[in-house]
Amino acid sequence: MTIFDKRESEVQSYARSFPVEFTRAEGPYLITADEKPYIDFLAGAGSLNYGHNHPVLQEALVDYIKSGGITHGLDMHTSAKRKFLEAFDKYILSPRGMDYRIQFTGPTGANAVEAALKLARKVKGRENIISFTNGFHGVTLGALAVTGNEHHRGAAGVTLGGTTRVPFDGYLGSGIDTTEYLDKLLSDGSSGVDLPAAVIVEAIQGEGGLNAARIDWLQNLEAVCRKHDVLLILDDIQAGCGRSGSFFSFEDAGIKPDMITLSKSLSGYGLPFAITLFRPELDQWKPGEHNGTFRGNNHAFVTAAAALEEFWSDDAFIEQVNENARVLHHRLLEMTLKYGKGSLTGRGRGMMQGIAFENGEIAGRICAHCFENGLVIETSGADDEVVKVLAPLNIPAEVLNQGLDILEEAVALEIPASRARAAE
Ligand SMILES: *Cc1c(COP(=O)(O)O)cnc(C)c1O
Repeated sequence: MTIFDKRESEVQSYARSFPVEFTRAEGPYLITADEKPYIDFLAGAGSLNYGHNHPVLQEALVDYIKSGGITHGLDMHTSAKRKFLEAFDKYILSPRGMDYRIQFTGPTGANAVEAALKLARKVKGRENIISFTNGFHGVTLGALAVTGNEHHRGAAGVTLGGTTRVPFDGYLGSGIDTTEYLDKLLSDGSSGVDLPAAVIVEAIQGEGGLNAARIDWLQNLEAVCRKHDVLLILDDIQAGCGRSGSFFSFEDAGIKPDMITLSKSLSGYGLPFAITLFRPELDQWKPGEHNGTFRGNNHAFVTAAAALEEFWSDDAFIEQVNENARVLHHRLLEMTLKYGKGSLTGRGRGMMQGIAFENGEIAGRICAHCFENGLVIETSGADDEVVKVLAPLNIPAEVLNQGLDILEEAVALEIPASRARAAE
């Protein structure tokens, strides 16, 4: 019996899908103690957009630590924080004409979401929040209330309230614009839906099955929010930091969310780090009103600033991301046509795409087969039916194709096998 079996809680999840011991990691590879490399198409669930241990970020961090840089500074001003703020302002906010205040929350995505929900309720003096089917926003109670997933919600142990769920784009079929339904609910005093403080939405639902909202749906959602004086919170924790093909996932739609949450790949190095952005007028916090011991991880400030400088100071990186996304789209489409015979559908956009299979069992077997052949890849969706490619954004094209070859081999084996089983 390993020490993991003996001592670690049953709550572990990814460790069950990938039951080996990893020791090192480099770029798109996870490497075990016996030096077996695995191509990483999970990338820390989207926390490693620039791959593992990027040398530029690693060097910046090692230099900082060796120079005696501050590790823990509560929310005090530090040089590392200043450099992060300057880099975020210079490379992200200013070029996009975005004016936001930045709140350093506790270092997880759920913390950033809690801060956004709390501030929205405080500013508007209303309790209700509109959330969407299949949305995922974290598993602390406030964030969990606006999350759809049954498995996660079931563990709450208390009533999850203060929210009204509305169908996400495509939930009722592509012919229906569900923002019209939301508009109707908010226009009708007897709809039974209390006027909300905010709407919280992902432009591409990550955990919920790679459902990408259409551009005009996002624009219509923004218009409904403005019409009813409701704040728009865009949760960009997974789809942000370049994953969608631009820094923010909503840039193509040209919308201006009132609040934005970022975490996962924000540090660039896999270090815990989260922020909540909001329009300056919404910054109605009293000092320390929402706090936390680990607000502002100085090591993450260092790697995040280095990542912004390295990847976002010109267009070379995002061009590579979009080229990889084209390869990914092409290969997945090919697989759905070749093996699907109409039963498989491609999902998502940018470097956040996958294939929806008939059910979670088939998708799970495909991922298990991939792992046997040296590829780490996971599922998402209501029934875990979507095999989700979350490769590092800067993965070399040949490694991306190698990983997709492994996936294709698994699909080629599993689809006929599952048809044969179904026919028995
Ligand atoms: C992962 C995720 C969260 C929660 O982040 P944690 O760090 O796990 O708390 C919230 N929203 C989205 C969209 C996510 O993908």
